Amino acid sequence: MPRKCQPRIRVCEFCSHLIGPDRGPAAKTCSEECQRDRNNAKEKARYQRVKNTQEWKETRSAYIVQQKERAARDHEYAKRLAKQRRAAVRKHRASLSPEQLEALREKGRQWHRNMTPEQRAARKYWYGGLSPELKQVFLLELRERRAQKKNERKQPMTDPPTPAAIRAAREAACLTQTQAATLVHSGLRAWQKWESGERRMDGAHWELFCIKIGRDDLFQGTTVAARSAS
Ligand SMILES: [Zn+2]
Repeated sequence: MPRKCQPRIRVCEFCSHLIGPDRGPAAKTCSEECQRDRNNAKEKARYQRVKNTQEWKETRSAYIVQQKERAARDHEYAKRLAKQRRAAVRKHRASLSPEQLEALREKGRQWHRNMTPEQRAARKYWYGGLSPELKQVFLLELRERRAQKKNERKQPMTDPPTPAAIRAAREAACLTQTQAATLVHSGLRAWQKWESGERRMDGAHWELFCIKIGRDDLFQGTTVAARSAS
């Protein structure tokens, strides 16, 4: 009776190296990498076979329509899709030769030059392509936020002291810059910036400093004592 036996020598279909015994009886490749590359190559070949058929084109356009519809409903999906698309573009660009890359850039510049004024306006700001109603909403929001920020900048809690006032107060208290900085839990560099006018000293630091050197009269703020007295 003839003995059934497995062929002992198996060769990787992708790189022609021997397949080790650790790779399972049905393995056609020598390693995980070869397996992945072989699958990719097969998929690529399949795509090359079908990519110009009518059926493929129809399937593809139907799929794209479906994607677009879902993206319009599902914000998370749209974000994921955009991320994938950016990654695909990066990958494609990385695979190009310098000449091909330059050709692509030139094409982009050409497109840029041929833009209509409307397209140009739409690309200038992220909200350029929105519908007029939505744009109104966003612009209003932006305007409000800007105004709010401006107000915050305009009205500090207390007036900041001038650099000269800071220096005078410190010298009157016979303190070095380092000692003064330590008093308000700050660093020498910060103090130097306050005295040189490079940075504005905020009300909290100034008030604390004045309190610690016993010169409450120096800061133009309201104290608890002043408020309860009035
Ligand atoms: Zn291999």
